[in-house]
Amino acid sequence: GEARAERVAIARDVTGSPAAMDRAELSLDLTRAIEREELFLQYQPKVHLRRQQVTSVEALVRWNHPTRGLVLPNDFIPLAEESEDIVALTLWTIRRSIADQKVLAEQGHDLRIFINIAGALLADARFVRRACVLVESSGAQLGFEITETSVIRDPDSAIANLQVFADIGIVIAIDDYGAGLSSLAYLKQLPARELKIDKLFVTQLTSSNRDPLIVRSTIDLAHALEMEVVAEGVESQAAMALLSVMGCDMIQGFLISRPINLDALIHFLDDGKYR
Ligand code: C2E
Ligand code: CA
Ligand code: CA
Ligand code: CA
Repeated sequence: GEARAERVAIARDVTGSPAAMDRAELSLDLTRAIEREELFLQYQPKVHLRRQQVTSVEALVRWNHPTRGLVLPNDFIPLAEESEDIVALTLWTIRRSIADQKVLAEQGHDLRIFINIAGALLADARFVRRACVLVESSGAQLGFEITETSVIRDPDSAIANLQVFADIGIVIAIDDYGAGLSSLAYLKQLPARELKIDKLFVTQLTSSNRDPLIVRSTIDLAHALEMEVVAEGVESQAAMALLSVMGCDMIQGFLISRPINLDALIHFLDDGKYR
């Protein structure tokens, strides 16, 4: 409508760049996309190495855009984070995950579903309350993946809110460990049970000299802090074997499965390779 044309025109005037215009359009479309159910979730299994079992999955949001086709999260999550859309998007993701977890349970698969939580939400008391209501009223088994960077912004309220989540049974995982700002002082204070080593250190694991040292010491550090370790971005048998020797607890990556729709996940689990 008119407001939309105006916002796009403003974006054009201010920067003159088509990229900025594109972003303005996408941002306007996103608000509508959430209402029109254009978003959908894919799930990527995490495999527990010693148990050879899928114990949880990560929910990853995708956008089926009416004219652009499939849009991946790196192209719209940053836009959602600049507006209030991240709140609606994340609450939608939680609701969808809760519903899908019921479907999985009906098929005999009890899996914890991990959801990515943007940093700004950890300082949003209203979001925290609404998320807690959804989780507590459903009895769902969820996990929240957060980055350290999001804690560093406002540590007191972030740590307090993470504790609220942990107290109602949500498992906290530290995402992208090693890729952003790291602070051992905060790491110790976070009520986190899992630490995910960023795929930056994992994809080159068997071809680099330095990465195995970083990964090994991260695994030892996490274990010293009584956290389980997930390596993400595992793409080869060689990487899996090395991670297993290093005592890594869980792996996630294209070697096991790409992110897949709920139906495909059920087929994957029924296949019985990891049961
Ligand atoms: P992330 O949390 O680090 O998610 C892992 C990303 O790595 C996913 O990309 C996944 O498809 C990709 N990946 C998985 N295995 C492999 C592998 O073996 N090799 C390589 N090269 N890549 C692998 P995706 O789905 O495009 O998501 C990108 C980012 O978008 C996520 O990074 C996460 O930060 C964000 N994101 C996704 N869904 C949500 C959401 O619902 N809410 C929020 N706030 N952020 C989300
Ligand atoms: Ca918007
Ligand atoms: Ca994640
Ligand atoms: Ca990650």
